[in-house]
Amino acid sequence: MKNLLIIGAGGVSRVATVKCAMNSHTFTHITLASRTKSKCDEIASFIKERLGVEIDTAQIDADDKDAVVKLIKKTGAEILLNVALPYQDLTLMDACIETKIHYIDTANYEHPSLAQFEYKEQWARNDKFKEAGILGLLGSGFDPGVTNVFCAYAQQNLFDEIFYIDILDCNAGDHGYAFATNFNPEINLREVSAKGRYWENGKWIQTEPMEIKMEWDYPEIGIKDSYLLYHEELESLVKNIKGLKRIRFFMTFGQSYLTHMKCLENVGMLGIKPIMHQGREIIPIEFLKTLLPDPASLGVRTKGYTNIGCVIRGIKEGKDKQIYIYNVCDHQACYKETGAQAVSYTTGVPAMIGAKLIAKGIWKGQGVFNMEEFDAKPFMEELNSQGLAWKIIEMTPSLGE
Ligand code: NDP
Repeated sequence: MKNLLIIGAGGVSRVATVKCAMNSHTFTHITLASRTKSKCDEIASFIKERLGVEIDTAQIDADDKDAVVKLIKKTGAEILLNVALPYQDLTLMDACIETKIHYIDTANYEHPSLAQFEYKEQWARNDKFKEAGILGLLGSGFDPGVTNVFCAYAQQNLFDEIFYIDILDCNAGDHGYAFATNFNPEINLREVSAKGRYWENGKWIQTEPMEIKMEWDYPEIGIKDSYLLYHEELESLVKNIKGLKRIRFFMTFGQSYLTHMKCLENVGMLGIKPIMHQGREIIPIEFLKTLLPDPASLGVRTKGYTNIGCVIRGIKEGKDKQIYIYNVCDHQACYKETGAQAVSYTTGVPAMIGAKLIAKGIWKGQGVFNMEEFDAKPFMEELNSQGLAWKIIEMTPSLGE
């Protein structure tokens, strides 16, 4: 039914591409294109061997808009799924505007030389998407992505009003390395080493990195130290969940990860500005990325579970109500199915679902949208049938006290 172009060939792309191939009644033609074509070819042969589905591959520099436009025209793609890096978001959105095809990504735009992520420049393309008659779906991963859909589902079906949201992201997987990141190291370390921020009573409150810590008992995992971070879905949820008094985001980190990160930061290895090294410019965090294990290679060695979800408090029919809605994912099960670990899996599956709902015309519209702006139910149903089943627990209301 739909011709899909996927850009990027890392861990998230592997899962998204495998899952799209598993939904080949929706995606009748798939092209996988990335900077390094051999990585696309490897994913394509995995898919051919496992599923008997043929996909096309191509080399592309996603920073080159004209080249992307050419590729879209050549493949006849109707939807572009961007699972490259946040740096490519704007170029790829502009290529979609020019060719009038739908756009989906999993992470908001970041300028390479500014460690700051926000929707401003992507939202600014709303009118151009409308004029082109196309839909841009932003942040169709897990967080952002499924966490936005969980909040929308709660708003649309479970509450009359929502006051407090805590998004809780736990990765209790062990890959056996002293230090490695579960998705692109550069993006991951920029996010984690930044100042924290949350929203309360109409304004943003900034914290030092890792300043706020709490212990949280994650179902099927146990108690873990969880640290407050700024995360991009907060920016859109503050706009779209009406009546909200406070929203925060927490992520778990082990002591070894934090010690390594601090050390690297202290010696300047997380720097994003060029420095001179033996007569040539290098960017410290890019050099560090070369040294660290490729996240796409962690699948085989990562054991344990992830648990990502939202604790939401508000009122329903005049009564105080609190729920915990979450998904638990097994790293090894993900690896068996797709060859990638759970952090890639929990991002790649929702990326495919976002593309599928657009391909089938279930989520439709013209302009640039965040996930919570659509009917959450069809997405929630797809999560259950595509490998990311969710649960809801009713809790004694306590959030916000
Ligand atoms: P990887 O670094 O493993 O993969 C990125 C891929 O993009 C690589 O194949 C890389 O090519 C390719 N790429 C980079 N620059 C270009 C370019 N200029 N042209 C063409 N291809 C390019 O990252 P992940 O798979 O771990 O993450 C992918 C995306 O998912 C990121 O944007 C990340 O922020 C996002 N993410 C979102 C999450 C969510 O829950 N919303 C969670 C985790 C990740 P090459 O192979 O040559 O390096």
